[in-house]
Amino acid sequence: MTTTTMTSIPPLNLAPMLVIGAGIMGAGIAQVAAQAGHPVLLHDAREGAAIEAKAKLAKSLDTLVAKGKLTAEAVAQTLARITPVSAIEEAAPVRLVVEAIVEKLDVKRALFKQLEGIVATDCVLATNTSSISVTAIANGLAHPERLVGMHFFNPVPLMKLVEVVSGLQTAPAVAEAIFELSKVWGKTPVHAKSTPGFIVNRIARPYYAETLALLLEQAATPAVLDACLRAAGFRMGPCELMDLIGHDTNFSVTQSVYEANFYDKRFVPSLVQREMVDGGLFGRKTGRGFYAYP
Ligand code: NAD
Repeated sequence: MTTTTMTSIPPLNLAPMLVIGAGIMGAGIAQVAAQAGHPVLLHDAREGAAIEAKAKLAKSLDTLVAKGKLTAEAVAQTLARITPVSAIEEAAPVRLVVEAIVEKLDVKRALFKQLEGIVATDCVLATNTSSISVTAIANGLAHPERLVGMHFFNPVPLMKLVEVVSGLQTAPAVAEAIFELSKVWGKTPVHAKSTPGFIVNRIARPYYAETLALLLEQAATPAVLDACLRAAGFRMGPCELMDLIGHDTNFSVTQSVYEANFYDKRFVPSLVQREMVDGGLFGRKTGRGFYAYP
């Protein structure tokens, strides 16, 4: 193992890297990194998920080739840079880990603790958490200064914003390296502090809450609400957006922001969404949310 002072980390020295979680976000992060020329290992706890994610990506990139937006060669190069791995132990030499697993503090903490026993001490650890305190995730790590939030938005290849979230112990050099790397990946990073929901999710919570309140009151259907907001200039309506995000993730984010704000009533999670989560109606990823996705 090497030791480090984390005073300066050139962003391009963060390759090779490991993305953990091959779901909606992890697959997108792997794509963006690979398209920028970086080799990526992709791991998921569910057997076969990383291979499936790569196959799905291949299919979607092929449609872009058919439309003349990408060359077959560029697609082949991108795909060649993504290597699914079934065990994270295979990632010992990586310089950066980006975690995009389930939005649960205890699961994320356990994963990073496990990673500290695998990667070198100068490997940067980034979490794509939407709402959980970066300071809290780092609690218990031997090197909490190398943990930072790297919060992408969905869909990752299209959305430019990355919130680079510093916890109380995050080394400024680590945040800066992730900020610079985000730019190399074609993103628009902003520095944020580890406050509940950071910036965008904090602002967005009341938007989802009011939508869900209207649905609880049966004031309008999801289709009507979405049509209204689209007509008002939003690119997507709130119901279709929640279906895209995943109700399991969106509900976890609201719960975490609610708890982190000492159960402030402004952030109370919705019964409508809990019922959908309990029923496995997570949105696009399970084929049904407010809408059906055949
Ligand atoms: P997802 O459900 O699509 O994917 C999560 C993946 O992580 C699954 O494939 C699951 O098998 C895997 N996983 C779960 N526990 C694991 C573990 N211990 N080790 C390895 N793999 C594990 O979820 P997602 O929407 O991609 O969200 C992932 C993270 O990104 C969450 O923290 C979420 O808050 C955050 N995020 C989500 C969005 C969004 O719009 N969905 C946006 C920004 C950030």
